[in-house]
Amino acid sequence: MGSPETVRLSIAAAMTLGFRRGKFFRNAKLGCINLLMEYDRGCIANCLYCGQAKEIADGPDCRSLIRVEWPSYPLKDVIKAINASALKNRFIQRVCISSLTSPKAPEDLISIVRKVKSGTSLKVSTLITPTSFTKPHFESIKAAGVQNITIAVDAATEGLFDRLRGKGAGGPHRWDRYLKGVEEAVMVMGNGRKSVGIHLIIGLGETEEEAAGLIQRCYDMGVSVHLFSFYPENGTGLEDWTQPPIEQYRKVQLVRHLIDRGLSRFEKMKFESGALKEFGLPENELLSIVRNGKAFMTTGCTGCNRPFANETPTQAMKGLLRNYPFPPNAQDILTIEKQTEMAVS
Ligand code: SF4
Repeated sequence: MGSPETVRLSIAAAMTLGFRRGKFFRNAKLGCINLLMEYDRGCIANCLYCGQAKEIADGPDCRSLIRVEWPSYPLKDVIKAINASALKNRFIQRVCISSLTSPKAPEDLISIVRKVKSGTSLKVSTLITPTSFTKPHFESIKAAGVQNITIAVDAATEGLFDRLRGKGAGGPHRWDRYLKGVEEAVMVMGNGRKSVGIHLIIGLGETEEEAAGLIQRCYDMGVSVHLFSFYPENGTGLEDWTQPPIEQYRKVQLVRHLIDRGLSRFEKMKFESGALKEFGLPENELLSIVRNGKAFMTTGCTGCNRPFANETPTQAMKGLLRNYPFPPNAQDILTIEKQTEMAVS
């Protein structure tokens, strides 16, 4: 068995749908049910930070992804459970279907989309790779009723991309194809950044200037940027790497928020040796944005809040959340303020 008959669920989704027992820390709720495709051969790509990379995963039984296992279920049971849960839990807004890199992936993903769209009333996002998906696939995805196409570019520069995902990693992904795929997705989805996004992981060796440059480039193309903070996955090529300092992550969250809201631009910001020194707007305005807290909440397709996906439970308990899956409370804001003061001092 494998996709499209079966899919993997994140543990958070399995808990939310009642397949697994458990509660989220601080009573967080999950807004998006994440499904991952699966194949006997696994993924044919070899991204050095990913638990599914072909050189480290054992065929279909990927070691982990975002440090948790992804149990497999028949798609029809998942659709039934989504309907039952969405009726009781209005927080669930969306289903996200993530593709593996495989020549079969486009056809199977579209088949899963059709079943989820006909079996539920939720919005659907697809997380795809332009290595396997081309413009005609995007057109079929749109025709199947998908609201969002997202591309996990992950690395901020061509050099890092090539080293961690492309030729340098013995993988099939190519930077040019990814950026072309982003452009094609915008052409097909039409209404710009409401429908097309990229995933960007902070902490893969990029400078703050490089991250800000890619964020601005994406928004100028009509594409949203959804941020992730690198966390080393056991058994992967980057298992000995460390997380980026939280102060660095806070800076990039602010940069993304300011560009997203049209409050600043890359060209107005100041950098020294790659480190961000000025955000391009008056200090009092920046402080009120920090105190508002929204800049530090999870960014993604509407409703996608990925609770505690970027930190350990111990870090979360200490208040060191990277992406807040709910509005930060007064104590959280004090913590964030200190982190951002340290970031720009
Ligand atoms: S932001 Fe969330 S819903 Fe959108 S593609 Fe990424 S994981 Fe899926």
